[in-house]
Amino acid sequence: MLMKTALKSFLEEIQRIGEEIKRKDGKLVGVQLPDGLKRLSIQIATVLEAIGLEPIFSGEHSYGACDIDTALLDTVDYLIHAGHTPLYKDDRIFFVPYFVEYNPEIVRKAFSQLDGKICLISTAQYTHRLPQVKHILEEAGFTVELNKGDDRVCFPGQVLGCNYTAVKNCDMILFIGDGLFHPVGAAIYSGKKVCRLNPLSGEVDLVTPENMIKRRYLLMTRCMDMKTCGILLSKKPGQFRLTLAREARNIANDRFHADLIVVDEITPDKIDNLPYDFFVNTACPRITFDDWSNFSKPIISFQELEIIVGKKPWESYSLDWIPG
Ligand code: SF4
Repeated sequence: MLMKTALKSFLEEIQRIGEEIKRKDGKLVGVQLPDGLKRLSIQIATVLEAIGLEPIFSGEHSYGACDIDTALLDTVDYLIHAGHTPLYKDDRIFFVPYFVEYNPEIVRKAFSQLDGKICLISTAQYTHRLPQVKHILEEAGFTVELNKGDDRVCFPGQVLGCNYTAVKNCDMILFIGDGLFHPVGAAIYSGKKVCRLNPLSGEVDLVTPENMIKRRYLLMTRCMDMKTCGILLSKKPGQFRLTLAREARNIANDRFHADLIVVDEITPDKIDNLPYDFFVNTACPRITFDDWSNFSKPIISFQELEIIVGKKPWESYSLDWIPG
């Protein structure tokens, strides 16, 4: 019942945007969906066709709002990029987030784990209920911060795998969402205790970043004995960090032979055959911290490179992130 409501609101928003595109005389409309929403293609096509628009779906992966299918955008009148919050101001791109419904009362399950001033965070699909979650916590006597981060995020409490600027001014963090990547990222970014509440199952646990940091230290230690290093850039508009990549090459050249390599998407089939012993990733930080085990050679971040070349101490370990 709750999930049906989320789908209905999403399709209503697609319809509203479709009508706006029609008013702007658009005809050919690109639609980009994350893999988890591609199953909705037929329903979206039905909505857009009923308005008199011709949809073309991107078959590429879409991991974030940074991940615009530029070839499709060059072809169509307008692009609907669904499932993520806006990163750009482009009159031809309409961003349509997808909100997953849940009962804010579920936060009561986390009460026993909370103390001090709490910072409330979540990934985009759960942010719409955070003001209600905050209210319930405050009525129960907790002190709660619900902050909007910098311009890379849209909603109060929203975090991205590349941006935790919503975390500030607190004793501990309450993360509402699923998966380990974001709460571990928040813990490393802030150095604070993180409680994770899955808003659908009600599971609650405390997240510790130590295992991930240990794995990263092992990987970094392996790189120290290597000779050559590829600095990876992605062509995706919101991930292209040329200045950072050039700085990485300059730093790496003190100790390794280092070259810049640019690809659309950083995948094992694109980089495993390149003649470098390890890679420094300047594209999406999730590739370094979440996908590293898919690659046959080590991938480290710019901050990790600074440590292995001796520019920063190991105790200063920090997360790679992209400011807005
Ligand atoms: S860079 Fe990565 S984490 Fe950041 S918005 Fe893009 S896909 Fe998401």
